[in-house]
Amino acid sequence: MERLVISCMDRRLNEYLDSKYNDGNTLFIRNAGANLTPILDLVREALRKNELKKGIYIATHNDCGAMGVVFQALTSGKSFGSGIYNALIKQFESIGFRSREGLERENGRLQVKRAKAIAKGVPVNLEPIDVKRLGVPAEHNEHRLILTSNLSEPYVKMTKIANTGVFDSYIIQGDTAFMSSDVEIAVKFLGIKDVRLEAFSTSEEARLSAELESLGREPFMHDAKCSLIRALR
Ligand SMILES: [Zn+2]
Repeated sequence: MERLVISCMDRRLNEYLDSKYNDGNTLFIRNAGANLTPILDLVREALRKNELKKGIYIATHNDCGAMGVVFQALTSGKSFGSGIYNALIKQFESIGFRSREGLERENGRLQVKRAKAIAKGVPVNLEPIDVKRLGVPAEHNEHRLILTSNLSEPYVKMTKIANTGVFDSYIIQGDTAFMSSDVEIAVKFLGIKDVRLEAFSTSEEARLSAELESLGREPFMHDAKCSLIRALR
């Protein structure tokens, strides 16, 4: 693989990320806020196993729900629990910002800095995406969350296999075992009630089955349903 894209789980980005970056030689890692904190080991592994000669792209965006969580926590003192605090909020405590937009800009700078610190000469680029310019259709469908460890499947295909729309689905992609705080943000603060774990290989299926069970024990999953989708080739 020649390129690594680290982006937010936001559903509005799926089609754009497919068309701009998914040339078949690109790995994608996505979570709440394009946040490097829970995925540092995964990024190091991607750097070790791939040449990534087209570089790393950090694709943040405006109107980001994850940054909304950080903004509320740091401006109104609202508590989001220790999982979300440690994985997401804590890193912004010493960073100054005046507005939600300012925080989103600082997030881009911070994540690029952190990626550069481990990139060992691989170029790191920032793309702040303006969601208003993506032409995402207005809809009132129920939103879903797809979790997968597959790092290169096009979202159009991934969402079709999961029997959901490309603009309806938030996507968490990477080492799903370390992403429970991202799922918590999606379920508790974005109101998603339908979580689908999507397996593209038998080894991934075994891992995701275990993940499904442990997610089922999380208190925040209380009124959300969780299922495993086999997309085996
Ligand atoms: Zn976002």
